[in-house]
Amino acid sequence: MVASIEAAKGGLKALLLEKNDRPGKKILVSGGGQCNISNAGSIDHFLRSYHEKEKFVGKSIRKYSPDLLKKWFEDIDVSLEARDDLKIFPKTGRASGIVNALLKQIEQNKVEMQLRSSVQHIKKEHNQFLVRTGTQHFLGRNLIIATGGKSYPALGTSGDGYRLASALGHSLTELRPALAAIEVRSHCLMELAGVSFKKAIVEHWRNEKKTGTYKGDLLITHDGLSGPVILNHSRYFEEGDILKLNLLSIQTDIYERKLLESTSKAGKKTVKNIVAEDDLPNRLIERIFLMAGISMQQKCAELTKEQRKKLVQLLTSFPLTISAVKGFDEAMVTAGGVSTNEVNGNTMESKLVSGLYFVGEVLDVDGITGGFNLQFSFSSGMAAAKAIKKSSQ
Ligand SMILES: Cc1cc2nc3c(=O)[nH]c(=O)nc-3n(C[C@H](O)[C@H](O)[C@H](O)COP(=O)(O)OP(=O)(O)OC[C@H]3O[C@@H](n4cnc5c(N)ncnc54)[C@H](O)[C@@H]3O)c2cc1C
Repeated sequence: MVASIEAAKGGLKALLLEKNDRPGKKILVSGGGQCNISNAGSIDHFLRSYHEKEKFVGKSIRKYSPDLLKKWFEDIDVSLEARDDLKIFPKTGRASGIVNALLKQIEQNKVEMQLRSSVQHIKKEHNQFLVRTGTQHFLGRNLIIATGGKSYPALGTSGDGYRLASALGHSLTELRPALAAIEVRSHCLMELAGVSFKKAIVEHWRNEKKTGTYKGDLLITHDGLSGPVILNHSRYFEEGDILKLNLLSIQTDIYERKLLESTSKAGKKTVKNIVAEDDLPNRLIERIFLMAGISMQQKCAELTKEQRKKLVQLLTSFPLTISAVKGFDEAMVTAGGVSTNEVNGNTMESKLVSGLYFVGEVLDVDGITGGFNLQFSFSSGMAAAKAIKKSSQ
């Protein structure tokens, strides 16, 4: 939408083909219906949020930055604000405000919009693209593929762009669900569904080797785990991997010493009273005590070394085995896509087919939660529209 508006503002004739009965359905559900459109973090933090794609993404985002996005939307009467966690949302807290403002711009700038037009085939002939939907065909000198990924297919994003890109000679990297919750085997924390932990530390293990340590908020769900620390790293998870949860965010040896010290001093107090000082939910303490073979009434003086060690292990290294990473139906974005090696990051133009551009999630770019995915869609859309305008002068 942004690319078509910018192209039309630049004096070009722009046609927007949309499969659905209205564009922007994914924006409407983004950020829980509030649309977390960007992030006010430093540019370095910003670029690190795209995993190994920092360099490619940096080319468009440095130029069409979060500040520029903010101004662009303010100019079309959408005020944005950064919240305490630096996430940027419309001040109204409503994603519909963003979509309505874009639709108004489409109309005002005379972008021709064809709804319920699912692009099936694209061919380049005599310096023109021939684009076919089920019933119509269109010709254009430049073409932007902005079909999104393949997550949430019910919203229109069923991965068509990958097929279209392949047919035009582009390579695809492996497609995987990202920003996805996980399911775990024998979910012994299931009764804690809904409980969240601030800044939990999660160790990721595969074949008895630690492959990563991640920190962030964690949510227990009815069938597994979610929350930013899980969503942001789900692209690295596989069935059978083990996650060790440190629910206290304190190093194991430090907590062990602390617990030893406080239980030795407080002989008559219950162990439960000591553990509860760390502000843990009662349900969690009950569950962990059961697993460690400690009764809720047990006095500190009665705590055996084995029980103490087990308690420390469960609180700082609780192991859960991943049984599944949620699939494309529930993942928020797609990792993988059109290879960025074949696309110019400054202009978004294909290095293989002149006049062909790729923007947004259809590319092999995925960001963590926090407004990074929508910002990249905006920045890459702007870059493509400006490049087309320049090449048409
Ligand atoms: C539940 C949810 C919440 C999210 N929340 C956030 C958030 O708060 N912040 C954030 O930054 N990101 C968020 N995301 C991710 C973000 O919405 C996407 O990364 C972003 O919308 C991608 O933009 P895009 O322009 O590349 O594609 P999309 O927004 O997916 O748009 C692609 C469009 O192309 C159309 N299309 C597809 N195939 C065809 C075809 N063959 N012919 C014609 N039209 C076609 C689709 O119908 C769709 O309208 C969220 C995603 C989900 C699912």
